[in-house]
Amino acid sequence: MKPRRKIGELACPCCGRVQPLTEQANGFAMLVCSWCSVKLQAYGQESDALLRKKAGISTEQEKSAEPAPAGTPAPIRKPNPANPPAGSGFLAELAKALAE
Ligand SMILES: [Zn+2]
Repeated sequence: MKPRRKIGELACPCCGRVQPLTEQANGFAMLVCSWCSVKLQAYGQESDALLRKKAGISTEQEKSAEPAPAGTPAPIRKPNPANPPAGSGFLAELAKALAE
């Protein structure tokens, strides 16, 4: 049996402890509480959407598995003025001095 995919976390409606919200093979959300052994299982689009909403999952976002974090472009490396390019600076001077 394929392990259920974890899609979020939700407080158990029975005991209140936060438990993983998983996706069943049929694509609907399910919460199985390991503390009080209650099972909350969606059997349709509506309950699935409500469970996901409760867990703070937007159904649109969920479809694209791992959404890239928005608004954080990779930092562009700027040339460091304290680090002169090769061919100049102390090491180049040292190499020149050693070569003589
Ligand atoms: Zn519980």
